[in-house]
Amino acid sequence: ELSTRLTRVARYVPQSQRVADIGADHAMLLSYLVSEGRVASGVAGEVNWGPFKNARDRVYALGMEREISVRKGDGLEVIAPGEAEVIMIAGMGGALIASILDKGADELEGVRRLVLQPNNGQVRLRKWLFEHGWQLIAEDLVEDGGIVYTILVAEPGDVSKPYQRIDLPLEIAMEVGPILWKEKHPLIQGHIKETIAERERILKDLAAGRSQKAQVRK
Ligand code: SAM
Repeated sequence: ELSTRLTRVARYVPQSQRVADIGADHAMLLSYLVSEGRVASGVAGEVNWGPFKNARDRVYALGMEREISVRKGDGLEVIAPGEAEVIMIAGMGGALIASILDKGADELEGVRRLVLQPNNGQVRLRKWLFEHGWQLIAEDLVEDGGIVYTILVAEPGDVSKPYQRIDLPLEIAMEVGPILWKEKHPLIQGHIKETIAERERILKDLAAGRSQKAQVRK
């Protein structure tokens, strides 16, 4: 019953004692990982009441209160420094994920892996990881309901490594995804074409606007 998207995200979560899922909503991902025996325990963080209740109700219904602690709060403030080995953030914009990570420097201490699934703004997020010492160790694309989602997996390390020995300038590699490119991911070609088509549509719309602001943005 776990979605194709979250099933793929789950693949990148290593066997661990304690993880955190930020923006957990129904705690689908975390309860799946616990039921699979992949993670021993975890924190489901939610900033909004509705999703927080969804998570609490589901954890209760599954009888997983001992394994999953549902906490209400903004971003990484729901965990203590050193509490989580792995942090998962899925189903939000890349800019929001980057800002959550940015505000949580203390809580990121001791974290050995980030498993991220931005719905958009991947470039922004790759840049944030690059600038903050998080080396991309895996990238994936997964199609679910006609939408292609990006998954970024990072660990503390040599940030420039994935960008070495690829025939792309850094800026373009951040757009395309250095590992997706290097490994010739089966969905990468279509994904690039769609991105270009989308940018062209935006340019066309901007060109149609005669205001000075539209021209500057173009
Ligand atoms: N992670 C789940 C998934 O991938 O299916 C749920 C994704 S849902 C679209 C995004 C969730 O992130 C919402 O439930 C929202 O309340 C939560 N959220 C947004 N900003 C947050 C923040 N700063 N801290 C914690 N949760 C946040």
